[in-house]
Amino acid sequence: MPPRAIIAGAGIGGLAAAMALSQAGFKVAIYERTDKLEEFGAGLQITPNATRVLARLGVLERVRQLSSKPPAVLVLRGSDNAKLMRLPLDDAERRWGAEYLVIHRADLQTALVEAVRDQPGIELSLGTTVTGFAANGDTISVRLQRGLTAARDEADLLIGADGLRSQVRSGLGFGPADRADFTRRVAYRALVNAEDVEPRWARSEIVLRLGPEAHLVQYPLRRGLIINLVATIRSPSRAGGGDQQWDGAADRSTLERAFAGWSKEARALVGAPVQWRAWPLYCRPPIPSFSLGRAALVGDAAHPMVPFLAQGAAQAIEDAGALGRTVAQAQDIPAALALYSRDRVERAARVQREALRQGRIYHLGGPLAFARDTTMRMLGPRRLSERYDWLYGA
Ligand SMILES: Cc1cc2nc3c(=O)[nH]c(=O)nc-3n(C[C@H](O)[C@H](O)[C@H](O)COP(=O)(O)OP(=O)(O)OC[C@H]3O[C@@H](n4cnc5c(N)ncnc54)[C@H](O)[C@@H]3O)c2cc1C
Repeated sequence: MPPRAIIAGAGIGGLAAAMALSQAGFKVAIYERTDKLEEFGAGLQITPNATRVLARLGVLERVRQLSSKPPAVLVLRGSDNAKLMRLPLDDAERRWGAEYLVIHRADLQTALVEAVRDQPGIELSLGTTVTGFAANGDTISVRLQRGLTAARDEADLLIGADGLRSQVRSGLGFGPADRADFTRRVAYRALVNAEDVEPRWARSEIVLRLGPEAHLVQYPLRRGLIINLVATIRSPSRAGGGDQQWDGAADRSTLERAFAGWSKEARALVGAPVQWRAWPLYCRPPIPSFSLGRAALVGDAAHPMVPFLAQGAAQAIEDAGALGRTVAQAQDIPAALALYSRDRVERAARVQREALRQGRIYHLGGPLAFARDTTMRMLGPRRLSERYDWLYGA
C-alpha cells in the first residue's frame, strides 16, 4: 500500500505540497474549509526560486500560459517619478536558472488545481475543516468537520497548509507568544482595466514607487489587460480589511490622502475607478521547527511574512519542493519531516526578516530616504542583481 498524506488547506502551499507528495509516491487527501475555491486575491510575483520548483512539479507550463514575464523591476521616487534603479529580469533564466513571472493568484491556483485533478492519487474535498489531530501509533488521526457532521481520517502524515491562523500550527503547541500581530501596515489592492488609464501608464515592468510611510507597486496581469496595484500605507487600524479575507472593502479616502503629494501618474493609478480591497498585514515570529512527529507545516502556516519581498507564495512553493524531496528519500516519516524542517527553517526565517527590513527601507522619509535613493542610483544592474542571488538563485 502506498503511504498516505492528509493536507489541511488548498491554497498555493497545500496544492503545491499535494503535487510534491504525489510525485514522491503518496496518496493525498486535501481538505479545504471553504465550499468553493473562489477567484480571490490579486497579483502574485513568482520569482525564479519558485518557478524552478513549479517546473519540477510539472506545473510550470500551465502557469506560464497564464502569466506575464516582466522585463524589469523599475524603482521610482513616488513624488516625481524620478528613476532610482532598474533590476533587469529578462536575463533571469541565465542568472538565476529560472524565469520571473507575474500572475493572478486565482490563475496560479487554477493551474495547480487542474494539475492536482489530473493526478488520480490526489483527492480534493471542499467544505471540510481540519479541527484537530492526534498521534495514533504508526499513523496520525485527523478530526474533520463538514457542516454539522464530524468525521475522522487517518494517514501516515499531516501537512498544515492552513494559512496565517493555522489550526495545525496551534496543535503543534508553539505557545501563547506565537500570536499573529498586526504590523500597522495595510496593503490596499486593486485590479484596474488597462484601458481605463492613459496607455503610457500601463507599463510592462514591475514598477515600485517609494515614499515616506507608503509604497505603490504596479504590474500587468492577463496579457496586459489588467494592471495589478498594491498600495501599502501605515495605518493604526485595520482600515476595513477583514482579518484573513481578501474582501475587506477599503476606505478610498484614506488611500487618496496617503498618496496626495505623489506624482500625477501615481495619483491617477490610485484614483482609477475600481474597488480597492484592504489587506491588513500581519506577521508571526519565526519558529524553531516546522514539524513534530507526523505533522509538518508549509506556507503561511509555517512562516507568514510581510509581502515586501514578494515571497509568501514563493516560499510556500519552496516548502513543497523540499517536502517532496525529503519524504521521497526516507523510510521513516517523522525523521523525513524533521529533515524537511531542518532544510527550511533557517532560510524561511531569513526571508521573513529580510521582508520586514525591505519594508523599513521602502518607507524611509527625510534624509534617510535621500541616502537610500542615492545608494540605489549608484547600484548598477549587475550589483543590484547580485543582491538577489541568495534568494532567487537558491
Ligand atoms: C498584499 C500582498 C501581496 C502579496 N504578494 C505576493 C507576491 O507577489 N509573491 C508571493 O510569493 N507572495 C505574495 N503574497 C503572499 C502570498 O499571497 C501568501 O503567502 C500565500 O498565498 C500563502 O499561501 P498558503 O497556501 O500558505 O496560505 P493561504 O493562501 O492562506 O491558504 C490557506 C488555505 O487553508 C484553508 N484553511 C484554513 N484553515 C483550514 C482548516 N482548519 N482546515 C482546512 N482548510 C483550512 C483556507 O481556506 C485557505 O484556502 C502577498 C500577500 C499580500 C497580503
